[in-house]
Amino acid sequence: MKFTRYPLLAAASLASLGALPACNDAKNATAAETAASSTAIAADSAETATLTTAGNATAANTGNTGSPATIPAAQRADAATITARPQVPILCYHQIRDWRPRDSKGAKDYIVPVEQFKAQIKMLADSGYHTILPDQLYAYLTTGAPLPSKPVMLTFDDTDLDQFTVARPTLDKYGFKAVYFIMTVSLGRPNYMSKAQVKQLSDEGNVIGSHTWDHHNVKKYEGEDWVTQIEKPTKQLEEITGKKINYFAYPFGLWRPEAIPELKKRGMDAAFILAEKRDQQDPLYTIRRIIASGYWSPRTLHNSIVQSF
Ligand SMILES: [Zn+2]
Repeated sequence: MKFTRYPLLAAASLASLGALPACNDAKNATAAETAASSTAIAADSAETATLTTAGNATAANTGNTGSPATIPAAQRADAATITARPQVPILCYHQIRDWRPRDSKGAKDYIVPVEQFKAQIKMLADSGYHTILPDQLYAYLTTGAPLPSKPVMLTFDDTDLDQFTVARPTLDKYGFKAVYFIMTVSLGRPNYMSKAQVKQLSDEGNVIGSHTWDHHNVKKYEGEDWVTQIEKPTKQLEEITGKKINYFAYPFGLWRPEAIPELKKRGMDAAFILAEKRDQQDPLYTIRRIIASGYWSPRTLHNSIVQSF
């Protein structure tokens, strides 16, 4: 059941990341590399340098830059300007747990072993990355608002319980915040987060996003599907968190142009895909992310960040 969420995603995301190493190469990364005490990797890409303009990382890390609603439409840049800005690296995680014998080769892109995850996050911290949240990204893309140095956004899809029990304490260690895209059908089920845990993540300064009711492919929605998959689950998340939900992640990263007005109608200010190309007309509704694979050492992750954004 769980695995059925992944195959499409695997094919689409890996195929579009031609610059990335093959899984087998990444898998051979040495244990020594992963275990190295300092995993700092200097970022030297021109892109990273151009989007690091702000000095006040502490204020920026709180995410208190105001919601999209506070930015008047007239002050928002057009699509071409938004597309031209350097992209902020955004990572997408699913399960954080050790591999089991029955996990397929393909599924392991979506299952990051606990120590591998900790090493990946440590590398980001040691390398000087600062996590940002969607409101900051929105303000940056639409108005050019400054971001902290070496910004990165961490996102977690599908409501898996280990995101709360493993990822959350790991991120806390470094003062990192993240976005959790919730598939509401799973709330309270075994191995998934409860409503109370989602509320706690929100209360602790993370952002809760909408990820449909039961992970159906947006390309296939018709009629009531927009209400069932987007409107109702989003309202439920707003009731749970007591906050407006502004952001959406497409299941499998798959989208179609007809979805964008439906998302706008239901209060979404931006939506996230995977590594495919952004839409030229609506780049805010096709913001790119890469899946941080379970096969990736910290160095491979870093290379992927630099190459993909
Ligand atoms: Zn998903």
